[in-house]
Amino acid sequence: MDRTLFTEEHEAFRKAFRQFAEREIVPHQTRWREQGQVDREVWRKAGAQGFLCPWLEEKYGGPGADFLCSVVLMEELARFYESGFAMCLHSDIVVPYLHSFGTEEQKHKWLPGCASGELVTAIGMTEPGTGSDLAALATTAVKDGDDYVINGSKTFISNGQLCDLVLLAAKTDPNPENAHKGISLFVVEAGRKGFVKGKRLHKMGMASQDTSELFFEDCRVPAANRLGPEGAGFMMLMQKLQQERLCVAIGAVAGAEQVLADTIAYTKERKAFGKPISKFQNTQFKLVESLAKVEVGRAYVDQVVAGHVAGKYLVKECSIAKFWTTDMAQEVIDTCLQFFGGYGYMLEYPVTRAFMDARVQRIYAGTNEIMKVIVAKQIGL
Ligand SMILES: Cc1cc2nc3c(=O)[nH]c(=O)nc-3n(C[C@H](O)[C@H](O)[C@H](O)COP(=O)(O)OP(=O)(O)OC[C@H]3O[C@@H](n4cnc5c(N)ncnc54)[C@H](O)[C@@H]3O)c2cc1C
Repeated sequence: MDRTLFTEEHEAFRKAFRQFAEREIVPHQTRWREQGQVDREVWRKAGAQGFLCPWLEEKYGGPGADFLCSVVLMEELARFYESGFAMCLHSDIVVPYLHSFGTEEQKHKWLPGCASGELVTAIGMTEPGTGSDLAALATTAVKDGDDYVINGSKTFISNGQLCDLVLLAAKTDPNPENAHKGISLFVVEAGRKGFVKGKRLHKMGMASQDTSELFFEDCRVPAANRLGPEGAGFMMLMQKLQQERLCVAIGAVAGAEQVLADTIAYTKERKAFGKPISKFQNTQFKLVESLAKVEVGRAYVDQVVAGHVAGKYLVKECSIAKFWTTDMAQEVIDTCLQFFGGYGYMLEYPVTRAFMDARVQRIYAGTNEIMKVIVAKQIGL
């Protein structure tokens, strides 16, 4: 289907990123998976070419393009089966908080490094005891003179090893009238006393992503590192989580589309009973059903992206896009994997890794059940 989202400039940007990926990503992917994280250097290289925070204005050190360039990058990373280089998490999930809620001083201090790749960011919401129920988080930030003293731990934090800045959700008021009003956001720099990066977690998929635990033990941060007003953390999170969900949906559709394309090619090559397996009716029906799902998902997500770019606040649509496309991608990739037979169970096959990588999309950025809770509220149930 023809897409109307992108201009010629976006397609030129896509082409430039493909060349970058072929040169700076693809040759290193096996090693990145083995070492459990991407090289620090690729962040700087991506920054130098304008691939980090492409939407960020030049006055803050960004390339001054738009969010659709970010969409292009998410799609291309999925096409290259790169699930560990969390450019999108950095550029389109964490940095937008600094951009929207930071003071001018904070923005000038941090944003240029975020665009150049000198500063890699992470977001710390989830804790060992709570994920979906953010209001129940136990990490505390207690005001002490001009500082806050932070205690607590976070888990499953993407970019946990490589991050230079963590956007941290912590309770500044343990007993507020409304639990949501007790949460504030802080920017905590790596290297600060009391901020300890824990171990890199061994996961089912996303082998090159350095998802980690983070610990805060009497970690002192200046009040100048608080983002937005005290107690406004939940409100800021709610505002920005729409884009996070949309990013997951964009990646899910692009990932499913790529796996499907590779599967179609494989079924034309692989022979059984004297003919290509693409000639079996079962293969054709399954692949056509998968194509229909991908195209329907793409049409919906493109429309939500267009509305989002136009400045609409699409809570229901972003939540639907997130749960529907990630369930869809899992089904499509599972269907595709079956056509690879035994090879579809071998780790060196991209389809196998895509299958394992895709599973988390139904869990992170708010579980798919939580997405339905949100939609139910939106339609007044
Ligand atoms: C690879 C990976 C990367 C991640 N990256 C980050 C990151 O960078 N930063 C970060 O902060 N977090 C991150 N997360 C955490 C992720 O967002 C959480 O795991 C997720 O939000 C779920 O929280 P939980 O694990 O505590 O599950 P729980 O909240 O304990 O949920 C357990 C189950 O109960 C269900 N459930 C909970 N509440 C309800 C309800 N009201 N109605 C119906 N069902 C419900 C859930 O859907 C789920 O099935 C990451 C996780 C993974 C696996």
